[in-house]
Amino acid sequence: MIKIKLTPKVDTFLTLEEIISKSSAEIEYVYSLLKKRGKNLFNLIKEADEIRFKLVGDKVSFVVNYNINFTNYCVGSCKFCSFKNSNNSLIKGYRMDTDKFKESVEDAIKKGVSEICIQGGLDPTFTYENYLELIKIIRRISPTVHIHAFSPSEIAYMSHISEENVEDVFRELKSKGLNSFPGTAAEILNDEVRKVICPEKITTQEWIDIVITGHNLGIHSSSTMMYGHIESLLDEAKHLVILKKIQEETGMFTEFVPLPFIHHYTLLYNKYGAQPGSTGLHDLTIFSSARVYFDSSIPNIQVSWPKLGLKFAQFSLYAGVNDLGGTLFHENISKSAGARYGEFTSVDDFVRIIADAGRIPVQRNTIYKEILSYE
Ligand code: SF4
Repeated sequence: MIKIKLTPKVDTFLTLEEIISKSSAEIEYVYSLLKKRGKNLFNLIKEADEIRFKLVGDKVSFVVNYNINFTNYCVGSCKFCSFKNSNNSLIKGYRMDTDKFKESVEDAIKKGVSEICIQGGLDPTFTYENYLELIKIIRRISPTVHIHAFSPSEIAYMSHISEENVEDVFRELKSKGLNSFPGTAAEILNDEVRKVICPEKITTQEWIDIVITGHNLGIHSSSTMMYGHIESLLDEAKHLVILKKIQEETGMFTEFVPLPFIHHYTLLYNKYGAQPGSTGLHDLTIFSSARVYFDSSIPNIQVSWPKLGLKFAQFSLYAGVNDLGGTLFHENISKSAGARYGEFTSVDDFVRIIADAGRIPVQRNTIYKEILSYE
């Protein structure tokens, strides 16, 4: 097993220690929101819905995007992951060659997407140049499509294999055409939890540093949290506080995307005693607590339909959610862990469920500018 050694020569902008030590009242407050059940949860949901209306009105957005998971070979060992090529993986090992990758990009452009999202495993055969080439290929095919690519974990890996610092990696990717990056690999921002669920992944402080480095170069990202495994409500509360502190520093998170743990085929569930994912009320509490706590600092709350399904996604629109994410076309990461909700949602399906919820469907770009309203 290759151990990832990071060489991100970044200055520390916000220390985890400082965030946690100065935010005990906020952590306590978020914890009190996350604990709500019964009538108190209904009241929280109502409050979240009112804040949603105050911030974004009745518009519910989605993005027409195309997801490419270009390799599932990975040096990592995350216990919640069934995507990585390994003995317990449902998906056979694959690595797209240049022609296959080009074909996917051309297919995406033909379908009229506004965004191409690329993420993959930390492939031991990949060079830094291979990563840059993926961006260059997309740019050669389309000078305008928004490129949303590479999690903080992949950025760290590029820094490791190139021996470039994180800032230079971001600069290089941006110069080749990167527009934004997914704020995944956050999982739960608590190193005790990370030691169990993803022992070789970047630490909480590294995640914070990488994200702020990208933001400071004018590169937006999403923010995420994977919950419903071994974390406690207090861990979730701290995670949300960390995200808000980063947002207060940079203002460059486009949205918050809660990601419930998909357990079926994972070691974390089958060998390490994790919960079998979240319950429906847990999901609703996360959506509504995040909406109330983030308020205008992160104005967009997105539901993950590949993990929760379109029916629950529609219901979440009443609990503070205002975005349904992307059409995707292809999705391997949730599917490989046992998610059952498919890989593609059509614009017609998004429009139908939004309109049925009494809201206004809107196609947006990656940074939440309206492209088309279906009012
Ligand atoms: S989550 Fe990502 S980094 Fe972790 S094992 Fe899976 S592919 Fe590798």
